Amino acid sequence: MIANIINIGSELLNGRTVNTNLIEISKELRKYGFEIDKQISIRDDRLLLYSELKSVFDNFDGNLIIITGGLGPTEDDITTEIVSKAIGAELILDTNELQRIKDYYLSLNRKMPKNNLKQAYFPKGYKIIINNNGTASGYSVEHNGFDILVLPGPPTEMLPMLKKYLKLYNSNQLSNYTLNLFGKGESLIETEIRKIDYNRDILEINTYVNNGIIDISIEYNKNDEIYAFEIINLLKEKFKDEIFYENLNTVESEIVKILINKRKTLTLAESITGGLIANRITNIPGASNVLIYGGVTYTENSKIKELYVKKDTLDKFSAVSSEVCEEMLIGLATKYDADYRISITGYAGPDAGDGGEVGLVYIGIGDNFENRVFKSHFIGNRERIKNYAANKALIELLKLINKN
Ligand code: ATP
Ligand code: MG
Repeated sequence: MIANIINIGSELLNGRTVNTNLIEISKELRKYGFEIDKQISIRDDRLLLYSELKSVFDNFDGNLIIITGGLGPTEDDITTEIVSKAIGAELILDTNELQRIKDYYLSLNRKMPKNNLKQAYFPKGYKIIINNNGTASGYSVEHNGFDILVLPGPPTEMLPMLKKYLKLYNSNQLSNYTLNLFGKGESLIETEIRKIDYNRDILEINTYVNNGIIDISIEYNKNDEIYAFEIINLLKEKFKDEIFYENLNTVESEIVKILINKRKTLTLAESITGGLIANRITNIPGASNVLIYGGVTYTENSKIKELYVKKDTLDKFSAVSSEVCEEMLIGLATKYDADYRISITGYAGPDAGDGGEVGLVYIGIGDNFENRVFKSHFIGNRERIKNYAANKALIELLKLINKN
């Protein structure tokens, strides 16, 4: 990133003041990876200031121009007036700033001198940087794709404001892109990411896991967007079978958001997850527009009574079977008129009944066109198996509603 510094004030050029602001600003900018390729000191003179600022603004193709000095109330403080002329932005009165300056004088038991009024005017598009150590607030204004930062001259005022601005600038520069995966172990994915040849100084890639969901987070500076997307596209290709979404907040919040937007509804029949899916959906504000019914049909009898699952089917295939899972979906459709349905049945362990295997889970996802049943095998303790099963069910639903 490239910066220019312009220090304004006759005192800097007549031997009265050492330009310490230049050193302080350079030091701070370096911390944030800026390179300074030009600095100018200019005396307080309208014509000269205008022509110099105009020329710098018109020819600059870097990121940031910092201007210090000349924000005071006196006749020779002309920085804001000239900046606004040079960028062609009108001056706007900021009533909050005016009040702040008036309050400052009130605290000294004085009326605000007329001269100070001009300190409450800023070029259109300005963003205020509050001065906690004096009357002149600073500001930044965007112009031709770069930022112009204007700060008061006194070093004790200038430096804290510069630091505040740079912190904000830096956080605004950082972008994040996240790929959301399911179906492969974290260590496998990390090994594959490690094999990729990418510049670690430019991109920060991290993985985060939550019950089978793996988020690959790519953090980069906005200036490096083109390079970042080269690597993001590489990752997308590499993990195309596992990626189910991008930049997801949570699966359930995305589901509720989409269903609300599409005015669609959902019903649930949960066995193994015991209401976990209903709980996650109802944690999201607005869920009442979406979720019509969520039943925990835990025993065979309740599956028969609540979801009209046939005794025959249960006897023939057992409660944890693709057939029962699908009949649960059909039962939900009979019971309630909704757009989407989830059914889920499985063995959470530690022992599986009917000679079944712990971790075997059937997930049914239905809309008004078809029913699909997914067979999964999760490993771990009861809680882990339930969480994985809930995640898988929600992800399959999200994929379906996102497609429709
Ligand atoms: P004020 O409200 O104090 O007038 P201002 O923004 O108008 O603030 P100036 O009038 O330009 O600032 O400068 C005020 C004082 O700040 C100067 O007399 C000088 O002591 C100090 N100062 C200004 N610019 C610099 C600089 N570049 N380096 C070091 N000190 C500076
Ligand atoms: Mg001054």
